[in-house]
Amino acid sequence: MGTANTRAPLPALSAMPGIEPMGQGLAPDELLNDLHLIMEGAYNPGHPGAMAHLDPPALTGSIVADLIVAGLNNNPLAEELSPSLSRLERSLLGWLAHRLGLGENANGVPASGGSLSNLMALVCARKAAGLQHQPEAVVLCSQAAHVSLEKAMTVMGLAADALQRLPVDPEGRLDPQALAAALEHWQCQGRPVIAVVATAGTTIRGAIDPLPAIAALCRSHGVWLHVDGAIGAVFGLIDHHQQRVPGLGLADSLTVNPQKLLGITKTSSVLLLRQPQWLAETFATGLPYMDPSWGGHHGGECGLQGTRPAEILKLWLGLRQLGLAGIEAILDGAVQRRSRLEQLLADLRSPSGQRLHCLSGPLHLLAFCPEGLDASASASWSAETRRRLLEEQLLLSRPLVQDRFHLKAVLGNPHTGDHELRKLARVVAGSLPH
Ligand SMILES: *Cc1c(COP(=O)(O)O)cnc(C)c1O
Repeated sequence: MGTANTRAPLPALSAMPGIEPMGQGLAPDELLNDLHLIMEGAYNPGHPGAMAHLDPPALTGSIVADLIVAGLNNNPLAEELSPSLSRLERSLLGWLAHRLGLGENANGVPASGGSLSNLMALVCARKAAGLQHQPEAVVLCSQAAHVSLEKAMTVMGLAADALQRLPVDPEGRLDPQALAAALEHWQCQGRPVIAVVATAGTTIRGAIDPLPAIAALCRSHGVWLHVDGAIGAVFGLIDHHQQRVPGLGLADSLTVNPQKLLGITKTSSVLLLRQPQWLAETFATGLPYMDPSWGGHHGGECGLQGTRPAEILKLWLGLRQLGLAGIEAILDGAVQRRSRLEQLLADLRSPSGQRLHCLSGPLHLLAFCPEGLDASASASWSAETRRRLLEEQLLLSRPLVQDRFHLKAVLGNPHTGDHELRKLARVVAGSLPH
């Protein structure tokens, strides 16, 4: 985007164009003027100071593919509505699942976002465990697991306390001892466990739950392991980053969000299963108005969505444009920016010697807050510092961790350079209480 460097990451509220269709359709130049108004008010992920969220600038190959998807207007609901794209979907997801260690037969289904991938995973897990008619069943995850799991409980009609959040260690990772105790506890209570959800890349600090230990517990209790890798799974694609997400391939199901760090245009999420037949076992209805599928099941029978855009094309073209070297460069850059910022912030001291408390992990996320602030002091410090940062065209987010507000940087934007990181550290240094 030609103006990405000059427009602020977060624009001021802008004028809105007319809303309702007029009696006569508008001419192209009028439509363009109206479009401009909307674009001027848009969030600008391409600005080098855009570090608040998991939404990087869009990869050009995926933008092109998005236009082509719209123009082709195929429908992966059924193979005769998207012959080549359905084949591409099956082949690419098979490759992805295999590359991430889920085995030879693994495959999956694309979804409009990670929330839907997580939901479908849990519905499959419930079917595989034969617990469809047990509203008292529970799902175990950590305190830091994503809010989309709460929605899944609601949609699945489970009890109000069905999502059991377990303690994390000081690094923000699910504690396997707490998990072992919980598995025993719920068994004694007579409430079956649908699945354990481990997170590979938590939303605030990018922590990775200890997957090998968790997988071993799941195996011994015969419980499905879903790994929410919406943030972290892409690190499993590249050999020298794999050690950041050890044990990814032990999952029964895995959520991957290429719309996050890789910059594939929204939406791009996939759910991968070690045994993909559970998708059709769970969701197939038969499509009486369609010819039978050539390769097993129609796309619309392998997930919750019926008609959907052929989003696989964006992922395919984006990954082919990057190559493994391009993917590696994105991951390298993101991790390097996080460790550089971590180092800059670690050196900061207030005049009275106060330091920052940093929350991070092996990925590209970092949250921080001055040591020793109480809840209300953290609220005013974070609001004021966020405002000062915005004046410098640096956008951070402001998550609440327990009862303390932090500032959070997501270092996935390849346009963010050392200049921005040093400026950020300067503003934060000036914000430390005297
Ligand atoms: C972003 C995210 C999700 C949800 O993905 P959406 O695409 O926003 O629905 C799930 N889990 C984790 C850990 C995430 O960071």
